[in-house]
Amino acid sequence: MRILVQKFGGTSVADLTCMRQVQSKVEKALAEGYKVVCVLSAMAGETNRLLTMAREWSSRPDPSEQDVLVATGEQVSVALFSMLLKDAGWNARSILGFQMPMRTDNDFGKARIMAIDAEQLKKQMEVHDVLVAAGFQGCDDCQRITTLGRGGSDTSAVALAAALNAERCEIYTDVDGVYTTDPNLCSRARKLDRIAYDEMLEMASMGAKVLQIRSVEFAKKYNVPVLVRSTFSDASGTLVTKEDPSMEQVKVSGIAYDKDQARVTLREVPDRPGVAAAIFVPLADAGILVDMIIQNVSLQGRTDMTFTVSRSDLERTLELLEKVAEDIGATEVMHDLGVCKVSVIGVGMRNHSGVAGTAFRALTSENINIMMISTSEIKISCVIEEKYLELAVRTLHDAFGLDQNPGI
Ligand code: ADP
Ligand code: ASP
Ligand code: MG
Repeated sequence: MRILVQKFGGTSVADLTCMRQVQSKVEKALAEGYKVVCVLSAMAGETNRLLTMAREWSSRPDPSEQDVLVATGEQVSVALFSMLLKDAGWNARSILGFQMPMRTDNDFGKARIMAIDAEQLKKQMEVHDVLVAAGFQGCDDCQRITTLGRGGSDTSAVALAAALNAERCEIYTDVDGVYTTDPNLCSRARKLDRIAYDEMLEMASMGAKVLQIRSVEFAKKYNVPVLVRSTFSDASGTLVTKEDPSMEQVKVSGIAYDKDQARVTLREVPDRPGVAAAIFVPLADAGILVDMIIQNVSLQGRTDMTFTVSRSDLERTLELLEKVAEDIGATEVMHDLGVCKVSVIGVGMRNHSGVAGTAFRALTSENINIMMISTSEIKISCVIEEKYLELAVRTLHDAFGLDQNPGI
């Protein structure tokens, strides 16, 4: 059985006209002889609407009930699309997370996939042309509904492709591939034909929401070829794949940005062993991901500790730090929401020097102050003021000549 997994995001299933486009992509694959697993997101805006509703009804929505609520978005999409396919004469059925079953842990709101019953799914595929699978949702060992975090349908699709040994996983969206930067922010962005898993992983981790981070982790781990392409055109898309030597020739392949950043500073923290643990262990225990950390040089045995967290975690972070600050004797906890992060990414950085210098010079030329810096072997990230975001992305994109096809 030749299996193809095709995933369609929120804008691709926004209304009947869009769903007809989806139908034509699925029918093309069927005509090529594939059995299709078609993974759908909720209709555009629906997940946000449901989350807003939860917050209106409850000051702190119960995480498991919130998952029951938001998972309905995908249920609507798969039911409606299955009706379309059946009307067109195809043997199709909808399948929800708990019916697959897609087993996850019970970390509601950001559950991780533990197991997929591939045998049971394959049995279903023997008797159906198309399984219309709800993305984003799974269930834990106690049969409670879980969701996989924002953008989680990408991960559902890649995980299903891995479990079913599909030929590839196609991610259909509203842009025709992965670009050198967000094409909706920078008109000079250039579509990439291919991108290495590690580069895509950094792009996604640094904020490029075209693929959810975990979907790329899955793709890399199980070697699933992922093709990102548009629902609304026949353009060839971008293949996310294993790295090959030619990719290393290109110093920089993309610029990512992340607006979901909040900066927190603990003032005048005592500079002695155990203080960092006293600050960051309670945050880690609360499931809060801390991104960049800077500790200043100490003056008279005290120093400032600055770090970034996701904006949605800020309230919890400040709550926890109130007690920590008291325990360790910090004088003040400050925070700043007007920041964002821009990142320069490329596997070629491993063996090319000078990338950081070029990036810093480019930002300086526009008078953009760099507040924090972090690096890995294939990326350089800077926290800057949010009002400079677009300018910084365009400036960096130009500085590395990303609108041109890469010369070596
Ligand atoms: P979907 O609803 O189909 O899952 P998303 O909104 O999650 O779509 O992801 C697609 C969006 O990702 C694009 O509309 C684009 O604005 C954004 N994006 C950010 N960075 C990039 C990039 N480097 N290449 C392509 N798209 C990007
Ligand atoms: N509907 C979910 C979200 O908006 C999952 C997804 O679209 O991938 O985050
Ligand atoms: Mg998405």
